[in-house]
Parts: sequence; C-alpha cells; structure tokens
Amino acid sequence: MLQRGAYGSVNFAANRSLFAVSAFAARANCFLSSRKKPLKIQQKTMSSRFIPSKRYDGVDRNVWIEFTTLAAECKAVNLGQGFPDFSPPEHIKQALADVAAVDSVATYQYTRGVGHPRLVKTMSKLFSPLFGIEIDALKDILITIGGYGALYASISAFIEHEDEVIIVEPFFDCYEPMVKIAGGIPKFIPLKPKSKESAGTSAGWTLDRDELEKMFNKNTKAIIINTPNNPLGKVYSREELELIAEMCIKYDCLCISDEVYEWLLFEDNKHVRIASLPGMWDRTLTIGSAGKTFSVTGWKLGWAIGPSQLIKHLQTVWQNSVYTCPTPLQEAVARGFETEMSRMGTDESYFKILPEQLQAKRDRMVQVLKDFGLKPIIPQGGYFLIADISSLNVDLSDSKDSGDAWDYRLVKWLTRNKKLATIPTTAFYCKEHRHLTEKYIRFCFCKEDETIEKMEKILKEWSKSM
Ligand code: PMP
Ligand code: GLN
Repeated sequence: MLQRGAYGSVNFAANRSLFAVSAFAARANCFLSSRKKPLKIQQKTMSSRFIPSKRYDGVDRNVWIEFTTLAAECKAVNLGQGFPDFSPPEHIKQALADVAAVDSVATYQYTRGVGHPRLVKTMSKLFSPLFGIEIDALKDILITIGGYGALYASISAFIEHEDEVIIVEPFFDCYEPMVKIAGGIPKFIPLKPKSKESAGTSAGWTLDRDELEKMFNKNTKAIIINTPNNPLGKVYSREELELIAEMCIKYDCLCISDEVYEWLLFEDNKHVRIASLPGMWDRTLTIGSAGKTFSVTGWKLGWAIGPSQLIKHLQTVWQNSVYTCPTPLQEAVARGFETEMSRMGTDESYFKILPEQLQAKRDRMVQVLKDFGLKPIIPQGGYFLIADISSLNVDLSDSKDSGDAWDYRLVKWLTRNKKLATIPTTAFYCKEHRHLTEKYIRFCFCKEDETIEKMEKILKEWSKSM
C-alpha cells in the first residue's frame, strides 16, 4: 500500500500480490512470463502527491483478498470464500446462452440505468406478495453490481459525517469500511448466546433488548442487519425483527437489511422481511443478490428494494458512479426469475432444491467437524457455519509477533500446513469485540460433496498424527 507522506517514487511491487488473486491471474502471469521479447517498459515511478484520499485510511486490508490469495497460492481445499463450486441451475445457464445468441442491439448495448425493464418488472411481480406491498418496478428497485453495490449505494446515499450506524455482529465485513468512508461512525452490538446450552445453534444467539436500546440515540441514522447471517447462519425470528423495528420507529432510523441469503433456509425456519413489518416499508432498504439466488456469484448482480422516496437517492448515487449493470446478465436473471415463478412451490423450484442440498452439506460438514473434535454452531440458513476451535493445539509461536488475531494466524497455518482454507471470524467483528470470537473459524459448505470429503480426509489424516 502507498504510504501517506511517502517521498519521491513508490515501488509497485508491494501491490503486485493483489493481482495474483485467482487462477485467472495465475494464468495471466504465466502468459506474461512466457513472452519471448522483453517489453521496453517505462520506469515505474509515481509522484508523492498521489496520496490516497483520507477517507480510505485504515480500510486497506481485506479478508477476501488476503485469504483467497493464500488459498490459491497454497492450492488448498477451499472452504473459505463463499461461492458454490457446483454448477448453477440449467435454466439460468441456458437463459444467458439464449441472450448471448440473439444478435440484437437491445442486449448488446446499455439498458435502463437503474434497472433493466424486464428484470425490475419481473422482480416487482415476484417480490410484491413477499413484502406485502405493491412494489413499483420503476421506482422501488435499483439494480446494482452485486449486493455490494446495493450496500454501497444505500450507505453513501444516506450516511453523513458523524451519523451513527448500528451494526449487528457478526457482520459482513464491508459494512464497517463503507460506513467509515461515508464519514459515519459505526457502533457495534454483538449477538450473544443466551446460555452455554443455547450456544450450539445460531438460533441461540440473540440481541439483548436493553443493550440494543442503549445503542440508539438522536445521532443514530441507521441500523444494518443481515438475515440469514454471514457467518453465523442466524435467521432472525419475527419477534427479534419486531424488536429492531420498534427501535427503528422510536428513534426514526433507517434499516438496511441485507437479505442476500433470503432463499437459503433450513428445517422449518422462515425468512421474515423486516420491510414487511408494520411501519417498516418506508424506512427499510432490502439488499438482495442474484449471485446467491442462482449460485452465480461471478455474475455480480444485486439490488436494493425499498420505497421510491429512499430508492431515488440510491439511484442518484448509481447514475453518478456506475450508471448501469450489464444488460445480458440482467436479461438472463429476469428470465431466471420468470422460470422460478412458474415453478414456485413445486419440486422443480431451485428455491426448494438448493436449500435442501445445502442442508445435507451442512449436516455432513457438521458431522466431520464433530468427529474431529470441534464444536460447530448449527446454522439455520445461508452458506456458512462457524466452529469453536479452541480445542486445537497448534503451535503458532512463529506468527506471535505478526499483530494478527489468533484466528487469523490459525487460519493461515491451516491453509499453509494442512492445505485447508477457511476464514477467520474476527473479520466479522470490530476490533474491540474480537476477543469474543477469536477461537472460532468460518467454514463454507456450499461446496461439492467431494470438496467436503477432501476436508474430511485432511482432518482424519491430521487426527492420526495427533
Ligand atoms: N452481503 C452478504 C451478507 C454477503 O455474504 C455478500 C457476499 N456475497 C454480499 C452481501 C455481497 O453480495 P454480492 O456477491 O452479490 O456482491
Ligand atoms: N460473501 C462471500 C463470503 O462471505 C464472498 C465475499 C467476497 O469474496 N468479497 O465469503
């Protein structure tokens, strides 16, 4: 990273590792290094005036870049980054193939800036009954680059200098930097197990009413929640959401509700949309992701749904930053939703098939971890589980002085020495609360059965040598 106040030229070598993130990058590097004639390249120097904006101070480290790079470098079995390593449903692949096959200006070129008409119309039909309100296709939806884009548009549209934003922990890591970049002050409140007995399932991790109420004051602008939660897998009950809604209404706050795993619920857990609770539509921005909905995280298409008086400000952010999302992807996702609407409630519905598959994968992974002697917390939904790994007796003295939390050091050790990539859970907590979670790591179970078997093999081998 560039140093503020660095003099003269800055070497780019330190940044190179950022580009080696994926297998694609590895192949690109290989291609470059096999070039016969060396290029005559310019001296790489940079003026010392090109210092990054202060807004970005302290947010340069990123858990996904760090651990995805490490997993690729170590060729580890990847239970880290949350993406399915299995194929998406046939119909969504076919939809994109069909769109690509049509020789038409309509799909080659820009579409409507704030959302492709066919997609927003289909979404308004699908989501209106789920939110219990008539969603205006043109005014109440913004289509973005992934859930990230919708979070970014929501936070930058409304958070002002010194606005307080309550973030429930564990939280998807980007909320904190996004709030800080906007000038806001994040305030963190952790979900906690009610008792030792209830700590074993994500349902047992809750918010304390008094603690929550103490977080709110006249400077509170918004609260950010995530259900089903990444990384805990918690699915908020109606009563829990009613409590949050009560606070939002009492303190006149916005609610940013990240629901990217909305279809991924296990057992009889139900997804309750906080925007559908009385008094909440007008103050809630609901975030979604086609990546999670159709197992195509690389398509990076997402959305925010909310009342037009809020969404219009997100649209302002969007039209002045990204402007529009890729037309073919929006068209394909629209067709995907249309297919799913025609299959809703049947055994063919992907929204039924995927959670069933994931539940079986979750159970398999839970068993493997338990057999190894770890204590996984059973998630009610989503892609992930966290497991208590305090019983692991690993010598981390080598990395003692790195300044990293224990889980960061352990995950690096596991990736390098056992070729098993996971994610440290302190990435989902603020600095002050990291002690609460240092002895947990996150495992992703939206993986092929063979990937989970590989994990099992690694842990069994390790057991033998203990
Ligand atoms: N929110 C949560 C809780 C996530 O786990 C993710 C990561 N996929 C996102 C938002 C971002 O979603 P997308 O990949 O669609 O940008
Ligand atoms: N949401 C995914 C996860 O939690 C990936 C996020 C990312 O790679 N930026 O693993």
